[in-house]
Amino acid sequence: MNFNLLSLLRPNILNLRPYSSARDEFSGTEAILLDANENPFNHPLNRYPDPHQRELKSKISELYAVKPESIFLGNGSDEAIDLLYRAFCIPGKSNVVSIDPSYGMYEVCAHINDVAYQRVALKPDFSLDPEALLKAVNPETRLIFLCSPNNPTSNLLKKEDMLSVIRGFRGLVIVDEAYIDFSASSGLLPDLDSQPNLVILRTLSKAWGLAGIRLGMAFASADIVAILTKIKYPYNINRLSLEQAIQALSEEDKTQKWVTEILQEREILRNELDKLPFVVKSYPSDANFLLVKFTDPLAVYSFLREKGLIVRDRSRVNLCSGCLRITIGSPHENKLLIEQIRKFR
Ligand SMILES: *Cc1c(COP(=O)(O)O)cnc(C)c1O
Repeated sequence: MNFNLLSLLRPNILNLRPYSSARDEFSGTEAILLDANENPFNHPLNRYPDPHQRELKSKISELYAVKPESIFLGNGSDEAIDLLYRAFCIPGKSNVVSIDPSYGMYEVCAHINDVAYQRVALKPDFSLDPEALLKAVNPETRLIFLCSPNNPTSNLLKKEDMLSVIRGFRGLVIVDEAYIDFSASSGLLPDLDSQPNLVILRTLSKAWGLAGIRLGMAFASADIVAILTKIKYPYNINRLSLEQAIQALSEEDKTQKWVTEILQEREILRNELDKLPFVVKSYPSDANFLLVKFTDPLAVYSFLREKGLIVRDRSRVNLCSGCLRITIGSPHENKLLIEQIRKFR
């Protein structure tokens, strides 16, 4: 399928002259900065952060083996998702296709941007149906959203199935890998160079334990990254977040230890839940949460709530009837959950 990025781009974005910030012209450190109307006191937070996030991108580039020109950084993955809509979808005209069920922000951003959102159900075993997805595409379809491991179904999608979708579509395919660090897969990063219409989303919010700093990454061709960079707010990643992210990425072993512990806990929790008579089944998980089917999900939900344990009700979501989504907590939290849920009924 031939892919023409410029023909996908909204004409107003193609012609846009981006804001040129004072710091665009100067990237050194040894200078007296009287160009941005900053306060000379309160170092270092008096200074605007680097709009190009050079230091953080260079760390990420090393860690993920992706060139800096292929990295976009956003205020959470949510920013990248919204910018993809704003760059490529014409309000009231374009549409996007997404797997169903999946992460709610794809649909919220579609509505904010007045873009029609078409859902295509996963198969009952939560696997991808490439033919059904491509069948839902029409000439106004600009984006396809995939999520692997998928939220809330917790499974990896098969790489070959995702590649069929990517190769069979002339728009952009966004593969959200927020949970990939909890899975046995290395994801689609190795395929980035050979798939010009692929955008991979990663985040520091899950395995890296940094949901509070809001740092999302989009990996794509240099051309796609240049477009997102052109339309972002100049200083979209603040100085505190940059600093924390750089720090975390230099302590990768810490993240690895957390992931190992979360994976052990995931199997313990799943094992314990499967023993309960009111658990219909727990689904195998490639993420840091479990999707669990109960005979009476709302009663379990309320029961846990009363005990101060908050889980996510997914029982009204397509293919997930009867299901609650349970995040893997600390060993102590998981023990409390098991202790309490055993008392149900
Ligand atoms: C949690 C999650 C994210 C993370 O979003 P951020 O804005 O980076 O915090 C992205 N995608 C999915 C599917 C998620 O569940």
